[in-house]
Amino acid sequence: MRTIEIFDTTLRDGEQSPGVNLSLHEKMEIALQLERLGVNRIEAGFAAASPGDLQSIQEIARRVKNSTIVSLSRSVQSDIDKAWEALKNAESACLHVFLATSPIHRKHKLAMTKEQVIENAVAAVKYGKKYFDLVEFSCEDGSRTELPYLMEVVQAVVDAGARIVNIPDTVGYTTPKEYGHIFRELREHVRGIEDVKLSCHCHDDLGMAVANTLAAIEAGATQVEGTINGIGERAGNASLEEVAMALDTRKDVYQAQTRLKLDEIARTSKLVSRLTGMMVPGNKAIVGANAFAHESGIHQDGVLKEVTTYEIIRPERVGFKSNKLVLGKLSGRHAFKDKLTELGYQLEQEELNDAFKRFKDLCDKKKKVTDDDIIALVGSKSNDIPER
Ligand SMILES: [Zn+2]
Repeated sequence: MRTIEIFDTTLRDGEQSPGVNLSLHEKMEIALQLERLGVNRIEAGFAAASPGDLQSIQEIARRVKNSTIVSLSRSVQSDIDKAWEALKNAESACLHVFLATSPIHRKHKLAMTKEQVIENAVAAVKYGKKYFDLVEFSCEDGSRTELPYLMEVVQAVVDAGARIVNIPDTVGYTTPKEYGHIFRELREHVRGIEDVKLSCHCHDDLGMAVANTLAAIEAGATQVEGTINGIGERAGNASLEEVAMALDTRKDVYQAQTRLKLDEIARTSKLVSRLTGMMVPGNKAIVGANAFAHESGIHQDGVLKEVTTYEIIRPERVGFKSNKLVLGKLSGRHAFKDKLTELGYQLEQEELNDAFKRFKDLCDKKKKVTDDDIIALVGSKSNDIPER
């Protein structure tokens, strides 16, 4: 069984979702939950993008100890300096430098020749190595790069000391077969690739981000980049919970596992949805409200006789309670607190008392209090960072 490392970019690529703008407190809350979920790396932001981004990476690096903290950086020295400023006190840090390699980007965006791109990439990796032990290099728009040239770039950055090489499908254009082929070719032809982590990063413009990610894993990728709930630029990124559950449910096919605590998935998904304001569609795989609901009579009958007739994953496996707790005026403080935890809240005693009182008031007006009611009830007090 191989182990696949999870690189979460909810706080960087995910935060690039149109309309999403997280405060430092919110980013911290998500980072601490990602650590609890067990992701290997957290891309906490882009240090050179703004002083606010730099500060939040710094704070996250100070608090999170069990995941490596990553900052994105262009292939320029001033960006790398900022990333180091943000990460120098991290328990474990990684610099993530990128440069576009595809003909379209070389010509229209960078106005650089193939040689200049390699020169800049190598210089960035070497400069990064002065500060960082762990440097990841991303060939932006890698999936649309001429394969022989892509191999040259990868060889050059590996020789320069990059320990993770990422081949992003930046625009969500590739197909599983094509993407897998790239990884196989790299593994076959790049010298020293066996000592390097090969990473995939997929966007969902054609709805193939997860399929492409799984194809890369089959072809030898050892790191997966993605986001919770699949949020991100345009149509979003590969959804990490879907990748993790595909590996877990179809071990027989993939022979690979992650170190994620799968039963933290539901809580992480709810927290990210609440803080980013990006609703999870009911029919979304793994974390949608209907993902484990059975509607038709034939299905209900089958599930009551034997759940495996229509259910391939038990809801408890990803942290959902199978028999949904419905709250009402007879519910006590314990059930209320359980529900808050399930929804991703961790309130101080005083705030809990306060919220419980408001909950009781609401119960006098409404017979059945839904999750949405509870979120509305405590949502405004969401700036608390659980202290551990
Ligand atoms: Zn991306």
